[in-house]
Amino acid sequence: MAVHTWETHRLVELEPGIVRVTLALPTGPRHVHCYFLRGDTDDGWTLVDTGLGLMETPWDDLLAQLDGDVVRIFITHMHPDHVGGAEAAAEATGAPVFQGRLDYAQCERVWGSDDWPERIAEWFIRNGVPPAVSDELIESGHVFADFVRFAWNPTLVEPGEEIDGWRVHWVPGHADGHLALERDGVLIAGDSLLTPITPAIGLYPESRPDPLGDYFATLEAIAELDPRVSYGGHGETIEAPAARAREIRAHHDERLDRTVSFLTDEPRTGFDVSYDLFGRDLPPIQRRFAVAETLSHLERLVADARAARHEDDRTVAYTAALHGGRPL
Ligand SMILES: [Zn+2]
Repeated sequence: MAVHTWETHRLVELEPGIVRVTLALPTGPRHVHCYFLRGDTDDGWTLVDTGLGLMETPWDDLLAQLDGDVVRIFITHMHPDHVGGAEAAAEATGAPVFQGRLDYAQCERVWGSDDWPERIAEWFIRNGVPPAVSDELIESGHVFADFVRFAWNPTLVEPGEEIDGWRVHWVPGHADGHLALERDGVLIAGDSLLTPITPAIGLYPESRPDPLGDYFATLEAIAELDPRVSYGGHGETIEAPAARAREIRAHHDERLDRTVSFLTDEPRTGFDVSYDLFGRDLPPIQRRFAVAETLSHLERLVADARAARHEDDRTVAYTAALHGGRPL
């Protein structure tokens, strides 16, 4: 696959009233797209997502190239590359930040507390991650938290509301409280629909129990909404969103089949199964995503009665479902 290198800090008008700016990331897909949207009123632009904090985004230069003020900032979800620069963007624009109620609650719990890396590490240990690996996770977790400067006390948004003529849709899966904006056949999807990568769907502590089930409902809703075009947080513009939604669903169905093929009647942890699914050689931060992604698939299999969960005080583990897929 050809790797597209994105030119950063340049405003690109995708269609009238929709302008994209791409910011650099130190890891992962190496870039994130933010969008400036015009709406029904003529009062100015809505900025969607903000990149990381501490990345010295030249907001003043970017804003000077717009033919009007940014009058509000909308956050699709609380992951660092989307919410991390919210404080700086709010400072540069003087605009209020809008964020989903559920998303902001999780944002505060994760990035607003000092002990999240320890809490998540404890949970990973319950899912079979060896203490040495989880120690590294704690360390990298604290480093990462420095890049997140979200805006405290935003205006809270609920699905179904409208923001300057853009309808707010709840698109959970990649993040529990993930929101997208839609208007006139255009979907501003955040990370709910991406190409060529697929959004990571992971299970995390203190979050909804079946994120992959949530995501399947999101994909169906997007296919039904059938937007003309979808602009995502990473990668390429999606010209056939409904078809892409069906393609991503097929990808996960296949991965569910692979996951269940690694289960036996001996209980195995999410960590063990992640070795089968994603290989043995992953740096800690990627192992963390691999385990979370493995667990979201295992929990979907449990919900489908294709696997069974076994829990005691110390460990969570999974077996193949007994008796033709029906739990005993
Ligand atoms: Zn992202």
